[in-house]
Amino acid sequence: MHGIISQLVYVATFGVLAMQASAPQPPPLSPAVRAYVSVDAPVTALTHARVIDGTGAAPREDQTLVMRDGRIVTMGNFATTPLPEGAHVIDLTGKSVIPGLVMVHEHLYYPSGPGVYGQLGESFSRLYLSGGVTTMRTGGNVNGFMDLNMMRLIEAGQKPGPAIDATAPYLNGPNSFIQMRTLKGPEDARRQVQYWTDEGATSLKTYMQITRGELAAAINEAHRRGIKVTGHLCSVTYAEAAGLGIDNLEHGFFAATDFVSDKKRDQCPGQGVGQKTIAALDENGAPFKALVKTLIDKRVALTSTLTVFETFTPGRAKPPGLEVLTPQLREQFEQNYERTSQNKDSIYTTLFPKAMTLERAFARAGGLLIAGTDPTGGGGVIPGFANQRQVELLVDAGFTPLEAISIATLNGATYLRRDKTVGSLAIGKQADLIVINGNPAATIADIRKVETVFKQGVGYDPAKLIDSVKGKAGIW
Ligand SMILES: [Zn+2]
Repeated sequence: MHGIISQLVYVATFGVLAMQASAPQPPPLSPAVRAYVSVDAPVTALTHARVIDGTGAAPREDQTLVMRDGRIVTMGNFATTPLPEGAHVIDLTGKSVIPGLVMVHEHLYYPSGPGVYGQLGESFSRLYLSGGVTTMRTGGNVNGFMDLNMMRLIEAGQKPGPAIDATAPYLNGPNSFIQMRTLKGPEDARRQVQYWTDEGATSLKTYMQITRGELAAAINEAHRRGIKVTGHLCSVTYAEAAGLGIDNLEHGFFAATDFVSDKKRDQCPGQGVGQKTIAALDENGAPFKALVKTLIDKRVALTSTLTVFETFTPGRAKPPGLEVLTPQLREQFEQNYERTSQNKDSIYTTLFPKAMTLERAFARAGGLLIAGTDPTGGGGVIPGFANQRQVELLVDAGFTPLEAISIATLNGATYLRRDKTVGSLAIGKQADLIVINGNPAATIADIRKVETVFKQGVGYDPAKLIDSVKGKAGIW
């Protein structure tokens, strides 16, 4: 009996030590980063906080949470948790803390002109952090080295922003994007994976015109290197991709062509053709249930990006954050918004709510649902603001606020294999957390009331980050 107990204690202690050893040390911060810092003390204690830990557990009231050297070192009831001597104490009465968001379909670019996506790594990384995103994967890259360089500069404390899982430039077949390369076959796909992962890419994004052969080669080479592959597919069905070993599929079921009856192999029948079949899909029918089972059996995660599709849907509220755009880009989006709201026969009127239902069904069946925003489409998906909106939309889709927060935090970290260090609030984990002036467990819209974003124990002021790019997002 004793032996077993001490063994358990040993394992538990060793677990915490191992976790601490593997968490990266916070880097020294450059003046360019310090300009946005509002809290930086060797030891910071948050008191009287409502803790929502990201696991889906019920909120705990009146908690003390202590951060030291970039990590959470103490969490417990205020009444029974002593404050360390010399701690910088912040009283959070009436406020909540949730884990920093971990979102997986982010971009450092934005639609800025006809067929052109502007490289906005500088402004977007600040906006993501301002919205509470402390870790993100870029889900596709048209910037070449910008994603990789931003990842390194942020990690080194040279620029403000979330930790980045940087994706290589898209792997795609013949396409009409002037910023995208065209693969020449499976061996070429393998070479691209080798080149970009050698350069430091930690994730791969496959796209709408890739062939099964190219996708198989890319997955094989990526997995050989311990790297995951996602896809916004069309030419390859979800079931085919799952069979080839893909790790993740983007945009919920919006991009599935599995139900197009006359689909030709390796050919994209058009996104709209696939979407008609999704809008008409029966979520209780055998075909959908079989696809969900295939994805779950093959451990394929699904990314919800409701924010970008909301901008295509008539009758929805104007998205938040438009004021950070340059005046031209703002006007461009306002015109798109008007056009969308007048479109009486948009497929999105039925497709958008259906897609929500299908994503919920996937998660309820046991699938790993993760979240992102995808700042593309016709514009209006503004980093940071959109990440909060995405969590609200998950609640619209039928998840509880606590489930939605888990999807946007711990689920993302689990997919990225970073859940030992981030994604939930626990002793030994990195101090990545958001202070919210409200209670998002009761009212999810409170997630917009971010007061401070802590990343590795350093508090950032969201207002300063947003002010620094106001009216400029679109230029840099
Ligand atoms: Zn995207």
